[in-house]
Amino acid sequence: MEQAVYLVKIGELTLKGGNLKDFEQRLVQNAQAYLDGQRAKVVLRAGRMTVEGPEESVPAIEYALSHLIGITGWSRATVVPKTIEAIQEAVIVEAQKARDSGARSFKINARRSDKSFPLNSFEIASLAGEAVYERGILPVDVHKPDAKISVEVRERCFVYGPERKGHRGLPCGTGGKGLLLLSGGIDSPVAGYRMIRRGMKIDCLYFHSHPYTSPEAQEKVENLAKILASFGLGTHINIVPFTKVQQRIRDAAPADYATLMLRICMMKVANRMCELTGAKTIITGESLGQVASQTVENMSVTNSYAAFPVMRPLVGMDKEEIIETATKIGSYGISILPYEDCCVLFSPKHPVLRAEQAATAAIYEALEIQPLLDEAIAAREHKRFSWNAAQGAVVGEGGATEV
Ligand code: ATP
Ligand code: MG
Repeated sequence: MEQAVYLVKIGELTLKGGNLKDFEQRLVQNAQAYLDGQRAKVVLRAGRMTVEGPEESVPAIEYALSHLIGITGWSRATVVPKTIEAIQEAVIVEAQKARDSGARSFKINARRSDKSFPLNSFEIASLAGEAVYERGILPVDVHKPDAKISVEVRERCFVYGPERKGHRGLPCGTGGKGLLLLSGGIDSPVAGYRMIRRGMKIDCLYFHSHPYTSPEAQEKVENLAKILASFGLGTHINIVPFTKVQQRIRDAAPADYATLMLRICMMKVANRMCELTGAKTIITGESLGQVASQTVENMSVTNSYAAFPVMRPLVGMDKEEIIETATKIGSYGISILPYEDCCVLFSPKHPVLRAEQAATAAIYEALEIQPLLDEAIAAREHKRFSWNAAQGAVVGEGGATEV
């Protein structure tokens, strides 16, 4: 039976000298994980990956490739016999498709890594281009073509048209594990996605303040976690009740320090969750100066309460760049739903801008909040989300967090 064949380009991996084998192996494993239960085959050879399977696996393969981290681009390809005539025939078909979908010029990109093929890449491109041109299908434009048609003569010969962009980055699972403080906002899901793209496995931690925050607010965060799961080979979310903590802060800390106290409490809980889950870093969606409380002074005071490095992948990004990524990964539409987050409800009008270490410590100590933090950790809920959207949520047992 005819197989659907996809040719996949891998990017940054080619830079990784000694680790290359591990990275490649992980990339293949990750692709296979998405295709679990499908009769699809993944092969990585000489800098290119192929994924092929029966026609009924096409939606699963395309889902996999549109979520797989570590690839720069992919296309559905036609495999043809290694003759220039077969290449010309396949290129003509691609050119007709391009014309039918509105292209008015084309260009051939040819590559030959099989040096036993008698024509070099320039000759392949010329002869394939001529065949299209002579039939009056489309004119060539080598500078600004509407359509690119590619020919790759490798162990087999591939012809393909439009290329879809991959997410680039390093295969998930090559960069250790991080704990993402995930809220319902626009930023933190993007922060998680960016770390997944550096190869990190992500667990999520969410603080809710029932009944001040609604069940919809939590559902929103779970939906954001599912998006991260789809790129990050699944995720765990730990949901920690923070109402009492917030109330204590409101009652016992100066109002302008409320946000900073909350952030410190979050770090304290995050420390414990890192220990429980094996995460090596705490990730937040903070961006320098984006809101009044996100100053370098406040960040450094917060850091002093973290037992693990705090990574803020958005620290130097502006809101527009963040929104662009949020839109790309599909989190934006969820993030802008109106349900309020716990921070917003208790946050002061004028938070302290340049917190000072000693003053902060005195206020924090006076809260005597550790027992409430322990209680919150003990009362946490835990859910796990699969990377394959169709499989949905798997609720963990007994609030335990798997390592
Ligand atoms: P976001 O859009 O991610 O909510 P933000 O710009 O609204 O960020 P803040 O609300 O000040 O900023 O929060 C800063 C960071 O603290 C968030 O990016 C997130 O990592 C973490 N955070 C805030 N609220 C929560 C929460 N309820 N649960 C878990 N983490 C949170
Ligand atoms: Mg927020």
